Amino acid sequence: MSEILKRGPVVAIDGPAGTGKSSATKRLADALGFIHIDTGALYRSIASLMLQRGGIVEEGASKEELEAFGVRATELARSVHLEFKRVAGKNPANRIFADGKDITDFIRTSEVSMAASRVSAVSGVRAALLGLQRQMGCVGKSILEGRDIGTVIFPDADIKFFLTASVDERAKRRLSELEVAGADAPSFQEVKTQIIARDHGDSSRAIAPLKKAEDALQIDTSELTLDEVVKTMETWVRERLGLSK
Ligand code: C5P
Repeated sequence: MSEILKRGPVVAIDGPAGTGKSSATKRLADALGFIHIDTGALYRSIASLMLQRGGIVEEGASKEELEAFGVRATELARSVHLEFKRVAGKNPANRIFADGKDITDFIRTSEVSMAASRVSAVSGVRAALLGLQRQMGCVGKSILEGRDIGTVIFPDADIKFFLTASVDERAKRRLSELEVAGADAPSFQEVKTQIIARDHGDSSRAIAPLKKAEDALQIDTSELTLDEVVKTMETWVRERLGLSK
């Protein structure tokens, strides 16, 4: 692999859904003055656009159907222009745009989560998003969160974290997120089943499966508050990078 030219330190944060990654990353980025890049939003964007176009393969699809899906998803990932922009007065302020259209409000549903897991197993989609993620991470001091940041996107990241939490705790957190977002709340059991299915899909796919990088610091967030997680990470980053408080 050719050398990745970073213009500032890169922090990689990986882990499965519901470990508190996004909230912790946002807070950590603000505390350190780093850019926050939510790479899951890129896969979610492709998934949401594929859903709009009626094209996500179902469980148990034939080999031909899977291939055709892979070709369509890859074409889309190669042609669509995705970018993050900060929009004053909107929540969240960091929004994702696809070909100039703000699609942030459409990408957090359970349907899109499951579709994102399908889309993310397509090698052409991952290849199309790899360069974009590196480009985004190389602009300056940045923190990227995802599934393969420390293993594939930035194997030479300055600092790597891997967050974990029990499945029950993750399902509980995801359910309250959906409730806060005003989505039609599924049952706890439904959320848990989806999380297990996503974990399985993300960890067992052939390309860039979810796994801890050997040099990542693992934090089990099950029994920790968000403040405690952020504090642990911030202290670790400041020590490692020699940043004063
Ligand atoms: O992090 P988030 O739950 O938003 O990610 C949605 C999905 O996108 C994940 O379940 C995973 O399938 C995929 N993803 C990925 N690689 C990343 C980030 C997300 O495969 N770096």
